[in-house]
Amino acid sequence: MPEPLVLAPGLYIVATPIGNLGDMTRRAIDVLGAVTVIACEDTRVTGKLMAHLGLKKPLRRYDDHADVAARDGLIALMRAEPVALVSDAGTPLISDPGYRLVRAAQAEGIAVTSLPGPSALITALTLAGLPTDRFLFGGFLPGKDKARGDMLRELGAVPATLVFYDTGPRLADTLDAMATILPGREIAVARELTKMFEECRRGSAAELAAHYREHPPRGEIVVLAGPPVAPVAPDAEAIDAALRAALERLPMSQATKDVARALGVDRHALYRRALELQAEAP
Ligand code: SAM
Repeated sequence: MPEPLVLAPGLYIVATPIGNLGDMTRRAIDVLGAVTVIACEDTRVTGKLMAHLGLKKPLRRYDDHADVAARDGLIALMRAEPVALVSDAGTPLISDPGYRLVRAAQAEGIAVTSLPGPSALITALTLAGLPTDRFLFGGFLPGKDKARGDMLRELGAVPATLVFYDTGPRLADTLDAMATILPGREIAVARELTKMFEECRRGSAAELAAHYREHPPRGEIVVLAGPPVAPVAPDAEAIDAALRAALERLPMSQATKDVARALGVDRHALYRRALELQAEAP
């Protein structure tokens, strides 16, 4: 019979599965079995995981907006006892609560350690077939068109694969925005990772947008954009196509600005062309 694990006081950040419960690591199970209290996002979600593992521990709801008293209570506990932090799924602090708790514990000289494990970000990146030597995680893409466009324009300049969390109802709009703002880049959509209906598709943003408009996606989603491609001087047909697509969604000044930046062409010339296209439109 192995000796039960005895842990020193402190904070133990524990990654949990993103779908497949078999992805819980041996060490994570041992640590959850040895801590005194588990701080979690949702006690029902963590309660189910604990029941699956055959463990029972006091659970305390925690998020980074928790009042200071709740955080101070956990910090006081960590001075004397081992405390775990988990999120509903994956690695805590990755688009999940925990950052403020870790900072507060470190500021108090409390030992903090992190147990590596599943994260949708890394799982998607390894599955997408896009370059992995340099990547940038953008967290959740905003739902509003303007904010999403601003983020894509800002991060689109970075020479790296971009990784975002997104949701099913927004996916097709995200892909449309990527078609305009990140033209020519390879896009991947990774869905339901580690679960029964796991899927990863790679293609152009326009192809994927058409696919997901036809087949509205369910479940959890990561969207990735490969690094920027070397600019090729666009021909008049490509410019018109990009302008028409952008004009369908945006006011003329924003459409010409976006397309000019995306294709590296003169904005004023593009504006004149946009006026012509509008005049030609039936
Ligand atoms: N901390 C988690 C991690 O390490 O991946 C992420 C938490 S964040 C609140 C939840 C988002 O992660 C989902 O909306 C989805 O974008 C992504 N995600 C989580 N599980 C996933 C899965 N199994 N497949 C695809 N994406 C997933």
